[in-house]
Amino acid sequence: MRDTPKDETANNGKLLLRAGYIHKEMAGVYDYLPMGLRVIENIKQIIREELNKIGCEELSLTALQNPEPWEKSGRFSDQEVDIWFKTELSAGGVLGLAPTHEEPITELMKTYISSYKDLPIAVYQFQTKFRNELRAKSGIMRGREFLMKDLYSFHTTEEDLDKFYARVEQTYSKIFDRLGIGDCTFETFASGGIFSKYSHEFQTILPVGEDTIYYNTNKSVYINKEVYNDEVLKDLGVDGEEFESASAAEVGNIFKLKFKYSEPLGLKYIDDSNKQQTVYMGCYGIGVSRLMGVIAEKFADEKGLVWPESVAPYKYYLVGIGEAGSQKAEELYALNEKCILFDDRDKRPGEKFADSELMGIPYRVVVSDKTLEKNQAEVTNRATGEVKLMNLDELIRGL
Ligand code: ATP
Ligand code: MG
Repeated sequence: MRDTPKDETANNGKLLLRAGYIHKEMAGVYDYLPMGLRVIENIKQIIREELNKIGCEELSLTALQNPEPWEKSGRFSDQEVDIWFKTELSAGGVLGLAPTHEEPITELMKTYISSYKDLPIAVYQFQTKFRNELRAKSGIMRGREFLMKDLYSFHTTEEDLDKFYARVEQTYSKIFDRLGIGDCTFETFASGGIFSKYSHEFQTILPVGEDTIYYNTNKSVYINKEVYNDEVLKDLGVDGEEFESASAAEVGNIFKLKFKYSEPLGLKYIDDSNKQQTVYMGCYGIGVSRLMGVIAEKFADEKGLVWPESVAPYKYYLVGIGEAGSQKAEELYALNEKCILFDDRDKRPGEKFADSELMGIPYRVVVSDKTLEKNQAEVTNRATGEVKLMNLDELIRGL
């Protein structure tokens, strides 16, 4: 798009719309176009690889929700959870559109967990969540329909839950490192729930982030404004330290649920002395589509998007100029179509260059009759602006 859509106020939304990554259906509801889907899939793949390394298994639960398990936990009530989308069966009866999945996974596990021998187990999914958010003005950072990775773990003891929770904390750090936001994403104390005083959020420092965190870098302590008070400071042993504040976006949130859902829903197991016990649970979320918005927002400059290589839809943006240049570009493209976005449109080079900058592809590769005289290509780094002439054989080896 040449013009910025008027009804989109967030920079991530504007840029992603203009560059053709997403399409807006309505406020907080976006389609992911081929390039946007590639970014989403890259983010998912990094998360998947790291979770699989710690023994988690992927599954997929439904969006349509039977109210029953939610009634057992008390969360089907609109007073309790105010962001439900609900719908009706034509034969009568209410269904919910899942805003999260603790209740259905707890209910489902009753079929598969009966003995201590079935534990521990950890399962996750990438799934569309529905939340009737009051405001949806942050582009894809806050959707009414959005993609979440949610992981749930099940244990016989609190120690085992604690051990797994610590592994997830480490895994999350690795994930955010690989996504290119490790140095600005911090594990932050946040409100807990009935069974634990705190949860941990992963907050990425971002001027347009909707949250505020207080931090002390010397002590490496980060606290969400929502729980920043004398009691927390005392609990964390940082009473009297200086704290600064910053805006941040919550990209992940992990909880020790303990018996919060297993008790009301009756998820139990038989221990090794034949006694019935309640299963310990943890849950661990990452906002996949929000992350795409955060990364877009974080690295963008005045020319457009700037993707870290790990999530970019393509590594190279290829342009051929002149007859020999275009011919060579065709050949290069055929060598590895997966990592190259080949701009073979009938447009002026200047227009192509501007689009490559708007789209934020990490490297722009230009082959022209002139660069070919020395068997070279001109390679421009999107993030740094650095331009260098590269030998074509070397370039081909790196494809
Ligand atoms: P928020 O405080 O931003 O409303 P939340 O604490 O209600 O989020 P969780 O239930 O913890 O959200 O969901 C797990 C993750 O899903 C969040 O850490 C966030 O990254 C992402 N997320 C939550 N709500 C949205 C939304 N409306 N759009 C996009 N991502 C979201
Ligand atoms: Mg949260």
